[in-house]
Amino acid sequence: MAAESTFGLVIGGVESNGTNGATEELLDPSTNRPFARVAVGAVDDARYAMQVAQAAFDAGEWAGGDGAKRAKALLRLAHLLDEQQEAFAALETRNMGKTLRESRVDVGFVVRTLEYVAGLADKVEGATIPVPGARFNYTVREPLGVTVHIAPWNYPLLLAMRSVAPALAAGNTVVLKPASLTPLTAVRFARLAGEAGLPNGVLNVVPGPGGRLGEALVRDPRCRSVSFTGSSEVGHRIAALAAERLIPATLELGGKSPVVVLPDADVERAARGIALGIFGNAGQMCWAGSRLIVHETLRSALLEKLRAIAEAMRLGPGTEDGVEMGPLVSREQEQRVLDYVRAARDDGGQVVTGGAKATGPSLADGNFVRPTVVADVPATSKAVREEIFGPVLSVFAYREPDEAVRLANETPFGLFAALWTRDLASAHHLARRLEAGMVVVNEPPLTFPQTPFGGFKESGLGNEQGLGVVASYTRTKNVLVNVAVPKRKP
Ligand code: NDP
Repeated sequence: MAAESTFGLVIGGVESNGTNGATEELLDPSTNRPFARVAVGAVDDARYAMQVAQAAFDAGEWAGGDGAKRAKALLRLAHLLDEQQEAFAALETRNMGKTLRESRVDVGFVVRTLEYVAGLADKVEGATIPVPGARFNYTVREPLGVTVHIAPWNYPLLLAMRSVAPALAAGNTVVLKPASLTPLTAVRFARLAGEAGLPNGVLNVVPGPGGRLGEALVRDPRCRSVSFTGSSEVGHRIAALAAERLIPATLELGGKSPVVVLPDADVERAARGIALGIFGNAGQMCWAGSRLIVHETLRSALLEKLRAIAEAMRLGPGTEDGVEMGPLVSREQEQRVLDYVRAARDDGGQVVTGGAKATGPSLADGNFVRPTVVADVPATSKAVREEIFGPVLSVFAYREPDEAVRLANETPFGLFAALWTRDLASAHHLARRLEAGMVVVNEPPLTFPQTPFGGFKESGLGNEQGLGVVASYTRTKNVLVNVAVPKRKP
């Protein structure tokens, strides 16, 4: 395999079309024309990948080697990725549709993640524990074994590597299943891992259908943990499979995140941040700020600014200079988003701006939806209750802070929340009352490899990122040694 437009499964450092040789075409979301071909893994490939990953783990070169060696390999990988940032960003944009600027940010985040976990690789420490008597008691943190990672299509490389990188740093060997729509940067990354000197079989990438191949990976007796990012529906399925096998699962699921604007907010700044938080990545973000809850005194001023920003946004293929919003990932996703907008309208919502497919000479063939703002949608509408995963903002007004908190928390999700205010006391007070794994104040959605990321309620289980992330891919062993000196017989 090898032409720049063909991508295989990478198992044990070998790229191939897998056991049954099946491949499928991938479409450029900005034109819906085919541009690449990828292997489609089968259940037998899942088994083989797990076998190879287990053998690489058992060989001990990665898992048993010291953390400093793993750190060096991960830093080499970070360096190579940094050097190839443009090529990775271009591939991500072509495959997923996001703008080149957004893809560059994603690749930069992966570089930084690799560097961060490399710094932790030789700092996974145990403890010595005082116990009664002449005994020495300590804990050791060991890698888990083979860890499985199932990634979504909205940030294909970034969300995959957010869990893969720390699992590797801890000494595990990995099998990654990227989303069927967007597998290309993961395959290219696996090639790079070989160049960086990771032993064969330490990082394996198997594109293929989630329902069959993904489940086969989690069901495999060699799978010691699963990290999943995607829809809440599939997240429940993964949790059930993990429970059957008694393995840990980290779940990063959907969101319907509130953005609360207090009466003293800087409206201009808030409008720019809110727009970024719902129109960035064409709204295909688990942490999109999709429900605007604005104090009634600012409602019309803020809506006017948001309308102006939305209508001035330049849509187009992500590869074009100056484009601010790319297409949605697929025709199906476009239809899904437009169906939600129709539901909002049918339920009495007023479309302030957008609400339709974008047309125009360079847009007609792609999956472009205009940035959309809808007001007065009843809370019972599915457009307000469910995750849309597109550039659609619903707007609600409130009078009293308690009402804002009630509206914000009135969702099964709890991933993210944003507050806009100049009043720091209110900001801290409200941040505590919001049921979300992450709250930002006067910021659009923003995170760093060193800050924990995880959802409450239907938004997930466990955390990625942060200081504890490498240790979270280990298990704790307690060792008790009797150190009593035998009494000599008189
Ligand atoms: P899914 O949850 O279906 O897919 C995410 C990943 O899980 C993909 O790799 C998928 O593979 C895989 N998968 C699917 N079914 C299974 C299964 N039974 N066992 C193991 N793995 C499985 O998301 P979709 O791509 O279908 O998107 C649907 C909606 O989910 C979006 O519109 C959005 O609302 C939400 N979503 C949320 C994301 C987030 O970051 N929170 C990310 C992506 C989607 P395959 O691609 O082959 O189906």
